[in-house]
Amino acid sequence: MAIRDGNGWTACGHGHRHWGRYGAAGLLAYAPCQPGAAPPGQAGTVAPICVLLQRRSWWGNHGGTWGPPGGARDSHESAVAAALREAEEECGLPADAVSVLGILRDDHEGWSYQTVIAAAPRALPVHALSSETSKAAWVAAEDVTALDLHPGFAARWPVLREALQPLTVIVDVANVMGSRPDGWWRDRAGAARRLRGELAGLAAEGVAALPESVPAPVLERWFPEFVLVVEGAARSIAAHHAAGSRDRDASGSPGGRLRLVAAAGSGDDTIAALAGDLEGRRLVVTADRRLRERCVAAGASVTGPSWLLGQL
Ligand SMILES: [Zn+2]
Repeated sequence: MAIRDGNGWTACGHGHRHWGRYGAAGLLAYAPCQPGAAPPGQAGTVAPICVLLQRRSWWGNHGGTWGPPGGARDSHESAVAAALREAEEECGLPADAVSVLGILRDDHEGWSYQTVIAAAPRALPVHALSSETSKAAWVAAEDVTALDLHPGFAARWPVLREALQPLTVIVDVANVMGSRPDGWWRDRAGAARRLRGELAGLAAEGVAALPESVPAPVLERWFPEFVLVVEGAARSIAAHHAAGSRDRDASGSPGGRLRLVAAAGSGDDTIAALAGDLEGRRLVVTADRRLRERCVAAGASVTGPSWLLGQL
């Protein structure tokens, strides 16, 4: 294992030549086109979004075409680490400024290209920094197809376009705990803490398959934010948890996005309000039929605890 040991040509099972001995990865970052264009939590507001693209230098592979920054993955690197590194090296996008939302994988039998989808808080300043890049720019999503696109990116753009939306999984903690007979009734706070630990792991690892009720494209992995709504005796764990904490370790793991919300009154009211107010796709995990109806009416998708527990 060595730095930049992925640099080199290889062949895939489809008979193509590809750059990247261990595969390649790119970063598709998106942001609201104008600062302040997307007031969070305003239901029904669709702010125009921009994606960060670069134009490849003429001498390179598919020279002159536009696509997300990306390149060869090193043998020891995850797709996320490689994509974030390439975007920083080629365009100057700081890796710690974005939230990783998912990975789309193009499998070529023995070789793959993984597009890492990430949200940036705004269209941060970018520059063409490497000799492989002649230009870096935020491009409005509706203008992307007007560019001369890299053929691999052009083929996947329709799916990627659909994925440019955050996903939040809202967990009815009491209901999920109640569906698992592990002695939770003896120590509700302890059981809630256990579940929080398991979900923090899942948030970091990502989810391979969403329930069919979620209208979202199929990705290799989604990295939703988990919002755990706790009530009653389990509320005490919220005090010991730094809200909205997000860590990224040296390996480039996207880190788990998980936060706790202590319901002041009824947990159901808090969950239904979040289901209506949060930006992007919302998936509520509960078996409570009345609550499910309220969440669907608020525009969220719903699924039962067995889906969530099956991911652990
Ligand atoms: Zn190929």
